[in-house]
Amino acid sequence: MNIVLMGLPGAGKGTQADKIVEKYETPHISTGDMFRAAIQEGTELGVKAKSYMDQGALVPDEVTIGIVRERLSKPDCDKGFLLDGFPRTVPQAAALDELLSDMGRRIEHVLNIQVDKDELVARLTGRRICKVCGTSYHLQFNPPKVEGQCDKDGGELYQRADDNPETVTNRLEVNMTQTAPLLSYYDGKGVLENINGQQNIDIVFKELDVILQKSNQ
Ligand SMILES: [Zn+2]
Repeated sequence: MNIVLMGLPGAGKGTQADKIVEKYETPHISTGDMFRAAIQEGTELGVKAKSYMDQGALVPDEVTIGIVRERLSKPDCDKGFLLDGFPRTVPQAAALDELLSDMGRRIEHVLNIQVDKDELVARLTGRRICKVCGTSYHLQFNPPKVEGQCDKDGGELYQRADDNPETVTNRLEVNMTQTAPLLSYYDGKGVLENINGQQNIDIVFKELDVILQKSNQ
């Protein structure tokens, strides 16, 4: 099964990715990991990517897609993969389709975890971090035992500057504008599945699982 996982920051993508990987033993391929591995292995494309990153420049699509191609050609992807963080744009999605088609494969599922903007803002602004040890808490989902204090060392909890509502809302809006064309692209291909991410984590996974099970038969 070849899967693309999508969702805005705070939608719970990471949690669901872990659950899919656990159940289906499919490799979780995130853009960051892919770049790090290519750079570490010192592949030609990895070296190229690093030179752009060192300059603080965006890695061009042809390099990124080359790295994706190399990664998806590895034996652990023979039975499928879970892509996370790639593609980000329609041209990248089209390039991915092309390279998969060369391999006689295609994307079977684009799983999009949907959560309302207001809920995402609430989730993303509720984060609090210990000044002493860096442990992360959440006012709503993972509150400390004593308000404002770390459970481990009593350290003071603070909110990161970029977790304030205005910054979070801006970040989400930019993200939504960027992903809208990508969602329509996949919808047009008939592979987009929207999942309500405003439910209990286990129910969200159950719904993803039903979709993945259907295609397994
Ligand atoms: Zn602490």
